[in-house]
Amino acid sequence: MKFYISADMEGIGGVVLREQLVRGESLYEEARHLLTAEVNTVVEALAVEGAEQIIVKDAHGSGFNLMPELLHPAAQYVMGATRVENRFPGLDGGFTGAILLGYHAMGGTMRAVRDHTMTSEGWQSLKLNGRDIGEIGLDARLFGLHGVPVLLVTGDDSTCAEALRELEGVPVVSTKTAAGRHSALLKAPARVKEEMRLAVAAAVRDRGGRRPVVPDGPYELEIRFLHTDQADRRRYDGSTAWRKDGLTAVYRSDDFLRLLSEAFG
Ligand SMILES: [Zn+2]
Repeated sequence: MKFYISADMEGIGGVVLREQLVRGESLYEEARHLLTAEVNTVVEALAVEGAEQIIVKDAHGSGFNLMPELLHPAAQYVMGATRVENRFPGLDGGFTGAILLGYHAMGGTMRAVRDHTMTSEGWQSLKLNGRDIGEIGLDARLFGLHGVPVLLVTGDDSTCAEALRELEGVPVVSTKTAAGRHSALLKAPARVKEEMRLAVAAAVRDRGGRRPVVPDGPYELEIRFLHTDQADRRRYDGSTAWRKDGLTAVYRSDDFLRLLSEAFG
């Protein structure tokens, strides 16, 4: 069995503030420890279940948040920035399943810790073929292109609700109950880790019931920006890319990866 973990940071147990998420901020180093410990717990749990290969993608910001000297030896780690066409290096059709760890709700979600889609600075929201989509939906499709199902999603309660809307019946672990964008009723990280161990064991046991999300083309992706100048700077040819209104650019393609590549740059 081979497993791929995509680890973001906003949904990790104990993380709730911007200062924990941005390199150089006062609480960032402490949050890296929380992230690394939670990743290690999941790697250990997968190893106990008999995983032969585990790859962990450090998926937050620039992709260098995990603390290398503390990492569990049973996994390999993708660190550093990658383009969206190669978002999950090492992934192939031989993987048993994926875990979306420490995720966050899509941009614009009410009562969700650090809700955003791809970037907090530039974009309000994304729609794929007319439907709101966040990083859970996008990443589930990127794994789905390889025939790999998502077995478990973790994050705050709004993230878990989004996961269940996007991936019917997917197992989830809620690490906190969001009160607002920067406030939550937190579970202690020690309790989160205990729940993760049980959830990973159950997810591996029940993996046969999960199906990959295989996106149906053609695809149309709408990006809603924060400011009109962000839409001004895009290139439009009128057929594969056009401007819908002041804040919205639309991209169209029959190829999902090409679509994301054009839209995300
Ligand atoms: Zn992040």
